[in-house]
Amino acid sequence: MLNNLEDPVQTPAQALKNALILAITAKTDERSKECVEMAKGFAHACSDETVDRIKKEIEEMISRSRFKECEDCAGVGWVETEYARPQGFDRDIGCLDTRRVDCETCHGNGEVEIEDE
Ligand SMILES: [Zn+2]
Repeated sequence: MLNNLEDPVQTPAQALKNALILAITAKTDERSKECVEMAKGFAHACSDETVDRIKKEIEEMISRSRFKECEDCAGVGWVETEYARPQGFDRDIGCLDTRRVDCETCHGNGEVEIEDE
């Protein structure tokens, strides 16, 4: 989130965006409230459309930051798994083969939702 901060801040819209990001990422409720108050002040200096646009940007940022690359499949959504091919008419001995299956951890999405701590 913090890498989305506007720097340098030149417009009230950028200041508003920064205040909202800081409010979301604040470590304590108190700090978060301070940032929300700051954001309200900046919002007064912005047009309604600008405030709406910033809100959308922030929402997108939040939804993106809730997901991370799946560690089990390295973000591709599938894993190679070994399965045993039994001995049969066309094979003298059983052997192991590999096939691709949907990653169980991320259900083939390649990313998993970050759980709240
Ligand atoms: Zn996965």
